[in-house]
Amino acid sequence: MYKVYLKSGKEESLKRFHPWVFSGAIARIDGEPEEGEVVEVYTAQKEFIAKGHFQIGSIAIRVLTFRQDEAIDFNFWKQRLSSALALRLSIGIAERPDNNTYRLVHGEGDNLPGLVIDIYNRTAVVQAHSAGMHLERMTIAEALHEVMADRIDHIYYKSETTLPFKADLYPENGFLRGKSTDNIALEYGLKFHIDWLKGQKTGFFVDQRENRALLERYAAGRNVLNMFCYTGGFSVYAMRGGAKLVHSVDSSAKAVDLTNQNIALNFPDDTRHRAYAEDAFKYLDRMDPVYDLIVLDPPAFAKHRDALRNALIGYRRLNAKAFEKIRPGGILFTFSCSQAVNKEQFRTAVFTAAALSGRRVRILHQLTQPADHPVNIYHPEGEYLKGLVLYVE
Ligand code: SAH
Repeated sequence: MYKVYLKSGKEESLKRFHPWVFSGAIARIDGEPEEGEVVEVYTAQKEFIAKGHFQIGSIAIRVLTFRQDEAIDFNFWKQRLSSALALRLSIGIAERPDNNTYRLVHGEGDNLPGLVIDIYNRTAVVQAHSAGMHLERMTIAEALHEVMADRIDHIYYKSETTLPFKADLYPENGFLRGKSTDNIALEYGLKFHIDWLKGQKTGFFVDQRENRALLERYAAGRNVLNMFCYTGGFSVYAMRGGAKLVHSVDSSAKAVDLTNQNIALNFPDDTRHRAYAEDAFKYLDRMDPVYDLIVLDPPAFAKHRDALRNALIGYRRLNAKAFEKIRPGGILFTFSCSQAVNKEQFRTAVFTAAALSGRRVRILHQLTQPADHPVNIYHPEGEYLKGLVLYVE
């Protein structure tokens, strides 16, 4: 196995179990590992410290184990996947009669950096974010099949847009096992069409489940605007919560179709809902101030650290519009899913927007990702979803 030697002192974060080695920390590599190969990491004093997937880029190694005697073989994948399933069973999300939609593997949060697996009823959607996970996909699928046993029938691999394209991996989306025709999944008793073939991410934003359930509790009698609706998750919960009317907006016509489908699936012939394909800023500018429950769940404004400044301006502008237009006594659910923006920065952007509006604003809830998207305590970067629920007078 190839050996990677760190510069002196660069082992500190690994000693604290942080799962990444940055390229700048590497002194030298014995040999020339291919992207995605497993390499061993040694300190400058030539002591073993970790094993992980090698890749060319700023994160050069994603750690799989800190134990030298742990082989990265079929048994390794089976054990890690079993432990991921055990967590979901223990928190009560994987075996509910009213829910079959959950995240089984959340990258670093499950000690499997670069791997995401979402479960939609009888189908698992596997997504690789690293060359190493891509190369291991068949073994992972086999281990997943054994671990999930009679819980799933189909495994779909969806990594065409999540792998570094410079790595010459040419990933192809497709079924690694089975072939599902039924793509309706259940989330807390609500039905959703999941488009894993063409949809964003693995087909659905599983990470907003608990926040959608919270919104349902505030929806009764309100006029709801679900901005950046994608599959209409928040809209469907608002309908069940007894909203007076629900308007969903997304710039993508495809998203508007998905939202309409999901509303029809749960509330056929219900006239309370309408969806619009329009740019968020345009809609917020032209809309009448009729809403007293607004959801802002935009795409990640900052995909990288360099984009941070512009992202914060984006969040401020967006929230300022909502503060300007929301009805007195209204409730605003506002989110950021950018990993590069931390909780304090997001809060400051929303505070600034509130101050600009001059309205009295109070925080009701501070939201984050749900328990099936756990954060590895040694990898604080894994905490990416931030939300505030605000009462606006
Ligand atoms: N709230 C959704 C997830 C939102 S994902 C859920 O719970 O599932 C972000 C969405 O924002 C995407 O569907 C994307 O099409 C949409 N979007 C991106 N830019 C936009 C813009 N400028 N105006 C409106 N929608 C936009």
